[in-house]
Amino acid sequence: MTSESLTGWSGTIAILSVIVLCVCLLASCASPGDKTTAPKAAPFVGNRGSRIFHEASCFDAGLIEQWNREDLQSTGEAAAKGYRPCQKCKP
Ligand SMILES: [Zn+2]
Repeated sequence: MTSESLTGWSGTIAILSVIVLCVCLLASCASPGDKTTAPKAAPFVGNRGSRIFHEASCFDAGLIEQWNREDLQSTGEAAAKGYRPCQKCKP
């Protein structure tokens, strides 16, 4: 009868839905690295305009416009790129 075939189909669809849901949950669990792959903040920040570099926590470092700042991993890198240390934070 038609009613029997209908319940058969809805049963199959229900099982498929559960499988799809499980796969989605597994997929979301399998990719927890999104947050950990974010770039680490550089310890020093250089001002491209003034050629002065700061500790990342220096107040003046926070004033540098995004387009004008350069992330620096070390004081050596800053010196190699021609930066002078800030007189306030003395990096
Ligand atoms: Zn500074």
